Amino acid sequence: MGRLLIIGAGGVATVAAHKVAQNKDIFTEVKIASRTESKCKALAEVLNKKYGTNVTTAQVDADSVEQLVALMSDYKPEMVLNLALPYQDLAIMEACLQTGCNYMDTANYEPKDEAHFEYSWQWAYRERFEKAGLCAILGCGFDPGVTSIYTAYAAKHHFDEIQYLDIVDCNAGNHHKAFATNFNPEINIREITQKGLYYENGKYIETEPMEIHKPLNYPNIGPKESYLLHHEEIESLVINYPTIKRARFWMTFGQQYLNYLDVIQNIGMARIDEVEYKAPKADGSGDEVVKIVPLQFLKAVLPNPQDLGQNYDGETSIGCRIRGLRGGEEHTYYVYNNCSHQAAFEETGMQGVSYTTGVPAMIGAMMFFKGLWNKPGVHNVEEFDPDPFMEQLNKQGLPWHEIHDGDLEL
Ligand code: NDP
Repeated sequence: MGRLLIIGAGGVATVAAHKVAQNKDIFTEVKIASRTESKCKALAEVLNKKYGTNVTTAQVDADSVEQLVALMSDYKPEMVLNLALPYQDLAIMEACLQTGCNYMDTANYEPKDEAHFEYSWQWAYRERFEKAGLCAILGCGFDPGVTSIYTAYAAKHHFDEIQYLDIVDCNAGNHHKAFATNFNPEINIREITQKGLYYENGKYIETEPMEIHKPLNYPNIGPKESYLLHHEEIESLVINYPTIKRARFWMTFGQQYLNYLDVIQNIGMARIDEVEYKAPKADGSGDEVVKIVPLQFLKAVLPNPQDLGQNYDGETSIGCRIRGLRGGEEHTYYVYNNCSHQAAFEETGMQGVSYTTGVPAMIGAMMFFKGLWNKPGVHNVEEFDPDPFMEQLNKQGLPWHEIHDGDLEL
């Protein structure tokens, strides 16, 4: 049915590739390309053995539009599933336009030298995708992704008017490491050390990092301290659902994690500017001054999120807590998924955070190849019909649950 190119071979890409291989009637031809081709080859070997697929691989530097265009002109994919890093989004979108290919990702563009993410850079491509008759689908992981689709589903089936939206993301798992991040450490630390931001009555309100927090109860988990963060899906949801009066995003962190993060920041290891460092020359003839970015160096010494799965226990719980009007009366609605790290690991070799991102990425691509989600332009996931996606969540390993008119605590 469809020829797919996956870019990236990290934790999220590994899960998405497993799920793509489990749905080989839809994804009839698959290539995985990344900066380090050996990782793609190792993954393809596992998939081809386990699922009887014929996944191929390639090397590509996705910062280079030229290299991407060469690869895509040769392979001619119908869609590129971008599971590399947010830095590569614009180069891959540009290559899609040059080669007539559709596009999907899970995280919005971020410039390398500025810890700042917003959709404007990618939305600027709207007209070009429209004119080319190509479809770009943005933010199809869990958050953004499933949380945006949950909101679309709530608006379609349960509310005349959504007024208050709180997205709640709890990881109650334990990987038994002193400190580790659950996805790419560089991207993760950039995200959570930013100022907080939420939307209320038509304006954005900024907070100090982690300034607002409160305990929230998560199903099957109990109370966990939850911190208000800026998160990208708020930006498109308040535009697509203009009745929203307030939209916020909350994420849980343990005290130990926050202590480590504090130290990392205070000693300068979260810096994203270049610093000079005297390093031994490769030929052993003394030292030379090289430039390093402290956060990138830190990533090199932290545990690789892909290696956390083996001893990871506990579960994640991510959902939307919504308050609004139906038939003139106020109602509440909580829709969520709980995902077990161990079950994710047993199926794909990756922990729950990679799993909850990679599964929706595959489902999004499936929606495109089935012709259910395809319109020219650049779109956020809530602009498509949520129903077939919600149906697949139940079939592909991320079942969802609903609580009507319960106490949202928020
Ligand atoms: P990883 O660091 O595990 O993997 C990133 C992959 O991209 C690696 O294979 C890396 O290659 C590759 N890559 C990096 N730079 C380039 C480049 N210039 N050219 C080609 N390949 C490149 O990250 P994750 O799998 O944890 O995360 C992947 C994406 O998912 C990120 O954008 C992240 O923000 C997003 N995400 C989204 C979530 C959501 O819910 N929406 C949640 C979690 C993550 P190499 O091996 O050579 O380093």
